[in-house]
Amino acid sequence: MSSAEKIQEIKNVIGSVTLVAVSKTKPISLLQEAYDGGQRIFGENRVQELADKFEALPKDIQWHMIGHLQSNKVKYIAPFVHLIHAVDSESLLKEIQKQALKNNRTIDCLLQVHIAKETNKFGFSAEELLEFISRKDLQNDFPNISFKGLMGMATFSDDQDLVRSEFRTLKSTFDTVKAHFSEDQFTEISMGMSGDYLLAIEEGSTMVRIGSSIFGGR
Ligand SMILES: *Cc1c(COP(=O)(O)O)cnc(C)c1O
Repeated sequence: MSSAEKIQEIKNVIGSVTLVAVSKTKPISLLQEAYDGGQRIFGENRVQELADKFEALPKDIQWHMIGHLQSNKVKYIAPFVHLIHAVDSESLLKEIQKQALKNNRTIDCLLQVHIAKETNKFGFSAEELLEFISRKDLQNDFPNISFKGLMGMATFSDDQDLVRSEFRTLKSTFDTVKAHFSEDQFTEISMGMSGDYLLAIEEGSTMVRIGSSIFGGR
């Protein structure tokens, strides 16, 4: 099956949930094939690769930065990035604000919550995030950032109960944090990857990030 056919198959299952086709490490030709099949949202986790693919591919693609983002690299994607998924610190927000202003645009962001048991994953803890949100007036402090919602990654595990409970934590954190923003703006919960997206959707995901099930293993 081609990547375009796999995308169609996944879209039939996920319905109105947004599909981010995660194309990291994959060649331009494969992304072009998915594009020709109608896919317009792609996710990458490295700044250089994202910028190179943006240059090489049609300009109506919405590019999502899904990986950990270092402040000193924001400038390379600020002119074109559609959504930054993994915002995990105030200093990163400050840099995104600065670069968004410089480019005279508003950049959409998701705040990353650390929901997994694994310590190698990034993000605010739910407690930290709630504290941060109530201490700050984010929309006022970062006028060129539009806060769209939350993102999280569950533990990489076959334990469905564990993964489900982590997604639940993200959903309930979202429900609490949402009250601090305008309702029509803070709408997205980015959770679910190739191995766990059905579970994620059951628990309220609005956006899934799927790579290997579309493009094959890496
Ligand atoms: C690679 C990656 C994905 C996609 O993973 P698959 O298991 O290949 O679907 C999703 N989210 C993030 C943050 C990633 O880095």
